[in-house]
Amino acid sequence: GGPRRCRRLEGEAARAALANADTLLFDCDGVLWRGEAAVSGAAEALERLAAAGKRLCYVTNNSGRTRAAYTEKLRRLGFPPAEPRHIFSSAFCAARYLRQALPPGAAAYVLGSAALAAELEAVGIPHLGTGPAALPGPAPADWVQAPLEPAVRAVLVGFDEHFSYAKLCQALRYLLRGGPECLLVGTNRDHRLPLEGGAGIPGTGCLVKAVETAAQREAFIVGKPNRFMFDCVAQEFPVDPARTIMVGDRLDTDILMGNSCGLTTLLTLTGVTALDEVRGHQDSGCPARHSLVPDFYVDSIADLLPALGQ
Ligand code: PLP
Ligand code: CA
Repeated sequence: GGPRRCRRLEGEAARAALANADTLLFDCDGVLWRGEAAVSGAAEALERLAAAGKRLCYVTNNSGRTRAAYTEKLRRLGFPPAEPRHIFSSAFCAARYLRQALPPGAAAYVLGSAALAAELEAVGIPHLGTGPAALPGPAPADWVQAPLEPAVRAVLVGFDEHFSYAKLCQALRYLLRGGPECLLVGTNRDHRLPLEGGAGIPGTGCLVKAVETAAQREAFIVGKPNRFMFDCVAQEFPVDPARTIMVGDRLDTDILMGNSCGLTTLLTLTGVTALDEVRGHQDSGCPARHSLVPDFYVDSIADLLPALGQ
């Protein structure tokens, strides 16, 4: 009982928590690597976990890479071999969601990357919209004359570096044409992507909000903190929440999803979150903010090495 208190995971508590777990879900950026650089000691920690028989899965809100590209990145950075079925990216999970939610033959209008398009193709969903948009006419008022694809029954919004006003117009046209029957799906709501040195670029949440604002309706989000992403893992593998640890660097996505799914949550400080933020939530007296407090924290997942034996 009582609000969750976050403790450093070390010593006997670390050994006990790891011994009790049979599955670990790893967020990627900020936990295993930062950009193209592996977190020091992270690959060794995962090697030990794999050698101890733990199931390792990867849950990432980044919709800009395919499952296959993630297995390749893990390999390139020296992590233990992973198969595509261990990768739960928001692009894969979005494709999976649409496959179950759309009638056969229905297509998606996609604001997103080539990787998102590839994941849709892998499950047989026709799509259009990715890549730079050609302007359908000289002025926005003319654009609404351009033909619409009759088979579109969903608008999917992911990370799209070619996002434009013309695409936003097109997304709105599909949503207005289809009404509530046309699905509106977002891969994730991350507001910003951190770059080295405190810099950041706008995240997919900005693009999802633009479409939601135009359409005046709320998107279904497949990524963290929605439990849909955990449910995708649980449909693929026999995971017991009580024996699963969610490892992440972000409170409002990784830790919130883990806590709401009944997992043990572990924050690592190699990413976007500082411990002061955890303390702020913990001492807030606000139940909604308590759900952002992890069970444990480490400075880096390399700190798990001593608890994994020599
Ligand atoms: N979305 C995009 C487009 C990204 O590039 C990243 C990180 O690189 C993320 C989301 C966050 O990914 P993760 O959930 O692995 O931290
Ligand atoms: Ca992260």
